[in-house]
Amino acid sequence: MRLFEVQDLQVKYGNIEAVKGISLHIDQDEKCIAIVGPNGAGKSTFVNAVTGLVEWAGEVLFAGQSIRGLSNRRLVQTGLVQCPERRYLFDFMSVKDNLLLGAYNAPKDGTVSIDQVFDLFPVLRDRVNQQAGTLSGGEAQMVAIGRALMASPKLLFLDEPTLGLAPIIRKNLIEALKEIGERGDIAVCLIEQNVKVSFEVAHRVYLMREGRIVKSGLAEELEADSEIQKVFLGV
Ligand code: ATP
Repeated sequence: MRLFEVQDLQVKYGNIEAVKGISLHIDQDEKCIAIVGPNGAGKSTFVNAVTGLVEWAGEVLFAGQSIRGLSNRRLVQTGLVQCPERRYLFDFMSVKDNLLLGAYNAPKDGTVSIDQVFDLFPVLRDRVNQQAGTLSGGEAQMVAIGRALMASPKLLFLDEPTLGLAPIIRKNLIEALKEIGERGDIAVCLIEQNVKVSFEVAHRVYLMREGRIVKSGLAEELEADSEIQKVFLGV
């Protein structure tokens, strides 16, 4: 049985077909896969669909069970959690309170504590009482990821976590993402525009354009593919 399986997923906004029938999966033992594509490819729409935020057609199975009809709250309790691209922190609340809010819908046997978030992102320990709105972009991203972790996900969707960050911050974040994967009990589905980041972190990669998966494979295989180099790396 696979951890996660999507079959012919379609999402429409009125007449706009944002996701045009995509199929993908995550195996039980996979720690991190990535979905990569340019602006408007439909990546965030995919994440919003499988976390219960937009209507979809097709089939989505988590641990062998269909998630059809489950609310976002139920999906979080089941273990499907997203960290959205726009972060949506509560600017006037402290780092600690933003993090604690993430645990609001966590299952009772949740396995992630605030101390574990601080171990992953030590800088947040020093910022614990600081208002979230006063954080740097990198720190805010760490709070957003930490808050998603506080829900004790089994599968965590990270929507463009490195977008707009300085190279050194991006590097630190990539290390933290690898560490999450190495914990072994949380699988990560990384959503990226940056194909290089995805090759660095993910075991397997799906390339998405205009609502469709156009190619998929092991990161190391795709990295060596000259067509991918041309289309997705612009070289
Ligand atoms: P980005 O990397 O820029 O976030 P993306 O790959 O995540 O892009 P989506 O945000 O999923 O792409 O958008 C896919 C398509 O759906 C785009 O054409 C977008 O304009 C459209 N779209 C997204 N959200 C809505 C919405 N709420 N209403 C109408 N159209 C939408």
